[in-house]
Amino acid sequence: MSTKIQSASSCADPFDPATISLADALARIQDRVTQVEGSERLPIRDCLDRINLAAIQSPIDVPASPNSAMDGYAISIDSLPADGVGEFSEIGTAYAGTPFNQTCGKLQCVRIMTGALLPPGTDAVIMQEQAEVTASGRVRIDSDHRVNENIRQAGEDIRTGETLLEAGARISPADLGVLASLGIGELDVVRKPVVAFFSTGDELVSIGEPLAAGKIYDSNRYSLYGMLSRLPVDIIDLGVIRDQPGAIREALVTASQQADLIITTGGVSVGEADYIKPVLEEIGDTEFWKIAIKPGRPLTLGQIDNTVFMGLPGNPVAVMVTFSQFVIPAIQILAGTTVKAPMLFKARALDKMRKRPGRYEFQRGVATLDDNNRWQVGKTGKQGSGILTSMSRANCFIVLPDENAGVDIGDEIDIQFFDWSLG
Ligand code: AMP
Ligand code: MG
Repeated sequence: MSTKIQSASSCADPFDPATISLADALARIQDRVTQVEGSERLPIRDCLDRINLAAIQSPIDVPASPNSAMDGYAISIDSLPADGVGEFSEIGTAYAGTPFNQTCGKLQCVRIMTGALLPPGTDAVIMQEQAEVTASGRVRIDSDHRVNENIRQAGEDIRTGETLLEAGARISPADLGVLASLGIGELDVVRKPVVAFFSTGDELVSIGEPLAAGKIYDSNRYSLYGMLSRLPVDIIDLGVIRDQPGAIREALVTASQQADLIITTGGVSVGEADYIKPVLEEIGDTEFWKIAIKPGRPLTLGQIDNTVFMGLPGNPVAVMVTFSQFVIPAIQILAGTTVKAPMLFKARALDKMRKRPGRYEFQRGVATLDDNNRWQVGKTGKQGSGILTSMSRANCFIVLPDENAGVDIGDEIDIQFFDWSLG
């Protein structure tokens, strides 16, 4: 007879019917979270990494008129002989920004610089390297050229009316350049969501306080600060809150009055001092999940009035895993952009990895390129969910899906490079 005692399911169980899948958890987040209201009009430089509010159409053609892609000579192709070499007389120079407006006639050419408008009567630019200037200043060009050679056509880059930026686009450095090329100096972007966060735990002390026996420094607020700082959000750090229902209630109410999203870490498991659940049930509306992922199994999603609540586990690695898989999608929605699946790359395993089917695992890996420029990945030592150095030494998650039953050296597996952005 077995003497093993198990009074309830736990995160050490191989399978628990009450758990939901990663995809389910994501779907539930998408059901509950909506874009924040409000927008602001800002100079385009301040819009970098912000989310575009409404689609932008080009008011003009870019370039506005045909111009030269090279330094050389503008001619009419008709002037060239069918065979052999034509000799041209140079009648002037066209500079970028200073057009040459005289019409170019038969066997005449115009010296032209890159970006200069094409002079009237010309339809090709001959690179200066393909022309020969005689001692008397005549320009010799062979017959091997065609119409439109080295010419940038009007609207070649952007056409009038073309959509350049969709609503929900994250403004990139190139977008700033594109907007500037249209003369657009200001843009409407979605208001930054406000994210408040605090840590819970009687064992936590802040930097600067002595470490009494049994106490640890609060690290989650720092990794959270780091991850949130990469996102277009405003941050409110509410510090460490004791494991007392009153203190937790007060912190949650304060946060809900100021923020669009509240993130807490710790206190969402089933321990004696895990008060997040009862307090939230009192003041808001919540779902408590056990997700079939490792690390990061317990997670809470809820709402206090219009503020979304996400209760992450306390373990430092679980905080970063759940942030990457669930908080970033929630912020993508709040910030007005689309939820993008994380980008996965194939890599060859350099280590054996133990894994049971039935849950997703996010091990921490170091990906490098092999001699054939293919990704290979090894683990960063101990993988416990409290071992934060496994994250700081890593550059990617090794993503092992539900069905994976372990990895052998040489197996092809998926990796997700760390990217704390909205994608
Ligand atoms: P909990 O989810 O509150 O049971 O916490 C799980 C584990 O994570 C415990 O070992 C905690 O001490 C640890 N932990 C919780 N919050 C933090 C934090 N802010 N910084 C570092 N470790 C933490
Ligand atoms: Mg705790």
